[in-house]
Amino acid sequence: MRSSIRLGRLFGIEVGLHYSWFLIALLITMSLGAQFQASHKEWGSNVIWALSILTALLFFVTLLAHEMSHALVARAHGITTKAITLFALGGVAQIEKEPEDAKTEFLVGAVGPFSSAVIGAISLGVAWALGWHMGSAPETPLHAMFVWLGYINLTLAAFNMIPGYPLDGGRILRSILWLVSGNPLRATQQAAKVGQGIALLFIAFGIFRFFAGAGVGGLWIAFIGWFLHQAASASYASVTLTTGLQGVHVSDVMTTQCASVDGNLNVQQLVDEHLLRTGQRCFVVERNGEVLGLVTPHEIKAVERQKWPYTTLYDVMRPLGQLHTVTPATPVMEALETMGRDDVNQLPVISGSHLEGVISRANVLQFLQTRAEMGR
Ligand SMILES: [Zn+2]
Repeated sequence: MRSSIRLGRLFGIEVGLHYSWFLIALLITMSLGAQFQASHKEWGSNVIWALSILTALLFFVTLLAHEMSHALVARAHGITTKAITLFALGGVAQIEKEPEDAKTEFLVGAVGPFSSAVIGAISLGVAWALGWHMGSAPETPLHAMFVWLGYINLTLAAFNMIPGYPLDGGRILRSILWLVSGNPLRATQQAAKVGQGIALLFIAFGIFRFFAGAGVGGLWIAFIGWFLHQAASASYASVTLTTGLQGVHVSDVMTTQCASVDGNLNVQQLVDEHLLRTGQRCFVVERNGEVLGLVTPHEIKAVERQKWPYTTLYDVMRPLGQLHTVTPATPVMEALETMGRDDVNQLPVISGSHLEGVISRANVLQFLQTRAEMGR
């Protein structure tokens, strides 16, 4: 999930909103407004809507605090978080890599629900300090706000403790399975399977509720189930990928025959004489035997077709200095992570100062396909 709108940095971590956030913020504000109108019409429209908006905003602040707690505990264990994005169903912290031991995984997972529970308890405490009686209906606008924030955060803590990966409870389950078996990959697969199972229960329960007359509420539960199922399946796939690529190095999958081309060629010539004729997808731009950069279909597509005859490869190539490089001994998983970070499809493979070849996403895919066909 990428942020659509960047809000800024907090503790050095990029915080952003996804478009779907606005939809849910609006829904929460509307439903709070309707709820307050029904129970406390005497507060007046202005107070009710200001209160609803403020409550919805504070709710997202508490969600952000939940995600931030994951990020800060991860950082304390040497794992960086790229960004936190708030979206329709909560927040996600893009934690850059998997923890290396079960204990860290446990702490990173557990701190989220713990934070939400603490925030929930503090909110109820504030309401109580302001004169609200536990269990009674809130009487003042401030009571209403803190009581709602209290209960929603306690609910959030409980929901996140559901032991299905990638929910926090699933991370905790994973860390325990990991500790028991010593096998992080199998632990993730098991926790993701549990996650898929729980998601299916959500869907079934939501559909049942819908037909039992619960209306949109039932569909909402089913939708959350569907979302959880997607997330669990994606985690399962990513673990399977990690497993499939364990022990595989760049030298096992890279292309060594990258044709060298002269940088003075224009794009049209490259397409006509090299790309279409040979089917090769990567070209090394050289001058006097020195590698200057790479050209792939990706760079060519960035140039308008009419300009092809007037654009040289020097103009479009990705200079070597701008690209991260890998060595033949780099694990493929690491190369994929670098590509992901830089948003490129290939990386030059360098050993010493010599270009050994190029590794692309397509290479990796082909490798996995061949393996799968061989039944390995
Ligand atoms: Zn969490």
